[in-house]
Amino acid sequence: MRALVKATAGPGFVLEDVAQPQIRDDEVLIRVRRAGVCGTDVHLYEWDAWAQGRCRPPFTVGHEFAGDVAAVGRFVTDVREGDRVTAEGHLVCGRCHLCRTGNAHVCPNTKIIGVDRDGCFADYIAMPSTNVWQLDDAIPFEIGGIHDPMGNAFHTALVGTEMPGKTVLITGCGPIGIFAVGICRAAGASRIIASDVNETRLALARTMGAHDAVQPQGAESAVRSATNGLGVDVVLEMSGVPSAIHQALALVRVGGRVQMLGIPAKAMELNVATEIIFKGITVYGVVGRRMYDTWIQMTQFLRSGQFDPTPVITHRFPLEQFDDAISAIKGGEAGKVVFEIG
Ligand code: NAD
Ligand code: ZN
Repeated sequence: MRALVKATAGPGFVLEDVAQPQIRDDEVLIRVRRAGVCGTDVHLYEWDAWAQGRCRPPFTVGHEFAGDVAAVGRFVTDVREGDRVTAEGHLVCGRCHLCRTGNAHVCPNTKIIGVDRDGCFADYIAMPSTNVWQLDDAIPFEIGGIHDPMGNAFHTALVGTEMPGKTVLITGCGPIGIFAVGICRAAGASRIIASDVNETRLALARTMGAHDAVQPQGAESAVRSATNGLGVDVVLEMSGVPSAIHQALALVRVGGRVQMLGIPAKAMELNVATEIIFKGITVYGVVGRRMYDTWIQMTQFLRSGQFDPTPVITHRFPLEQFDDAISAIKGGEAGKVVFEIG
């Protein structure tokens, strides 16, 4: 089968002909139809310091996908050949303190497909059946293929926020931030202010329902005028840029909530006393998707048609054009980029 491989400890990927994966008794073989390309794949492609510290080539890259089940191991009872599925790409141990208290999303033994083991930019992938997620008939493979980043957005927007009626600032309109705009809108936020430095992405945020889509320097006045000077109830920090993180903490109201998804490239300074404690705010660190509350919520929003992520997908490529897919993301103008594999 074809597989996009991180072949050596250096920049680039190689499209190779490799053996189809063998499945264990508790695993499922999935024929990949659509797969999302993400910033993580760019880190792997460029072989930056994070990738060098974390990954051991050779391995197949890719962690966002959907497809249909080609074969199931003999212990698998709840997934059948022909099922249309996607999957949670974080493989957790199921046995640690966190897994056993309903917090598997922060399992310290997590292995990520396409990072710590073979991933989904290939004709087939083997997955533990416990990670497989059935796609509703109404949900196409293309949308199934982006459940991972959409799930990040659902997790960030909805955990602990009681969204109906809330005022929201979303800092960063990458694919996840733009998904979050649509999710907050569907969940009943009364005012959504989105910020980014990129006009193409601000336009996508407007398409997905942002009331205001502004440059970062315009965020403060947009927030003040939308909230009678109070500050927003909730900020979703989705850029990872230090100045946006300071802005998130400044523009949330006293007693509000900041949901932090964006990952700063390096350590940064905060005034914990003035930016967090004396404002009485709650800061929530987002890791992946809650298993499987986030997945249930996501399926229900998609099935009902309350939330349609289709406009966020701006680029589609065959697997052979992987260099173009990576360039589209690096260019910074793209929404979501997907591979059409089979
Ligand atoms: P992205 O890089 O495409 O989006 C970030 C956006 O922030 C860009 O559009 C950029 O123009 C914008 N930006 C830059 N400076 C800004 C500023 N000062 N104010 C507002 N916006 C600004 O990334 P993405 O794929 O949408 O992911 C968003 C972030 O979430 C990234 O940092 C990514 O690493 C992180 N992430 C975290 C998790 C998790 O589990 N915590 C999972 C996936 C991604
Ligand atoms: Zn665990």
